[in-house]
Amino acid sequence: MSHSIDKDLLREALEQAHERFCTDTAGKNADYIPYLASVPSSLFGIAATLPDGDTLTVGDCDYSFGIESVSKVPTALLAMNQHSAEAVLDKIGADATGLPFNSIMAILLENDHPSTPLVNAGAISACSMILPTGSAEGKWNAIRNFIEELCGSKVEVIEELYHSESATNFNNRSIAWLLRNYERIYDDPELSLDLYTRQCSLGITARQMAVMAATIAFGGVNPLTRREVFKSNLTPRITSMMATVGFYEHTGDWLFSTGLPAKSGVGGGIMAVVPGRIGIAAFAPPLDSSGNSSKAQKALGFIAQRLNLNIFNAIDH
Ligand code: GLU
Repeated sequence: MSHSIDKDLLREALEQAHERFCTDTAGKNADYIPYLASVPSSLFGIAATLPDGDTLTVGDCDYSFGIESVSKVPTALLAMNQHSAEAVLDKIGADATGLPFNSIMAILLENDHPSTPLVNAGAISACSMILPTGSAEGKWNAIRNFIEELCGSKVEVIEELYHSESATNFNNRSIAWLLRNYERIYDDPELSLDLYTRQCSLGITARQMAVMAATIAFGGVNPLTRREVFKSNLTPRITSMMATVGFYEHTGDWLFSTGLPAKSGVGGGIMAVVPGRIGIAAFAPPLDSSGNSSKAQKALGFIAQRLNLNIFNAIDH
C-alpha cells in the first residue's frame, strides 16, 4: 500500500478542480465584517504541499486574504505545545457544540463543561492561555511567530481588516466577558479578545496556508524549512479537532462526504490536512449559508476523491 502522492496526478487534479469550479457562482462574500464584503469575489486559488516541500499551485495563490477562523488551528496548537494537549482538553475541551461558531447560547448551555478551541469562545480562551500571560505584545509575537514557522514565511496583519473587525465585534466581546463570568478565560478578557481579533485579521496566501497544512500533516516539521515547529504527538490532536468542528455546523456532512480534516474561515480559505501525506489549501471568497467557501469546498472534495485522500479509507490508496 503506497501512501505517497504522484506529483503529476496531483497537478492534474488541481488543474481540473480549478477549471471545473472557477465559473461557479454559488454563495456570497461574508458581509458582517465590512472589509470581507469588498474582496473581489472571483479570486480562486488552490495550493498543495508535498513531503519534499514542493508546493503546486493553480489560480490566485499569492493573494493575501484574511485567515479568519483558520487561525484558530495554529493558536490551539500553540496552546497545546506551550502547555499540553491535556491542559487544553481540561481548560477548553474538544467537543463540538452543534451550534453556530459564534454562539452565546452554547456558552450558557455548556458553562459547566468546555467546548473546543476551534469555535469563537474556545479560540478566545485559547488566546488567553498563550504565554507569556499578561503581555499583549509577548503573546502576539508568540502567535505570529508560530504561524510564520508553520508557513515558513512572513505574515502581516491586514490593518483595514483588523480595524473593520475591531469596530464590529460586539458579539465576540460578549463572548469574552461571558467566559470571564464562568471562569473559562485565563487572562484579561479584553486582551484575549484583541489577540483573537488580530490573529483573525492576518493576511495569508493559499500557498502559505498549504505549507502550514503540510507542517501539521508531517508531524510538526515544516517540509520547506525542515524546522521542527511543534511536538509531533500533537498532529493527531489537532486533526481530530479539525475533523470534529472545522466546517461549522456542516462538519459532519463534510467529513462524511470527503473524509478530510479541514478548517474553514469566513475570509474564504479552507485548510485541509491529510496526516503523513499532504497539506492542501483552497481560497475563494463567496461562502455558503453556514460560512464555508463554496468553491473551495467543491475543489477540495473533488481533489480528495481523485487522489483517495479520505483518512477513513482502509483500502488501497
Ligand atoms: N473573526 C471572525 C469572527 O470572529 C472569524 C469567523 C470565522 O472565520 O469563522 O466572527
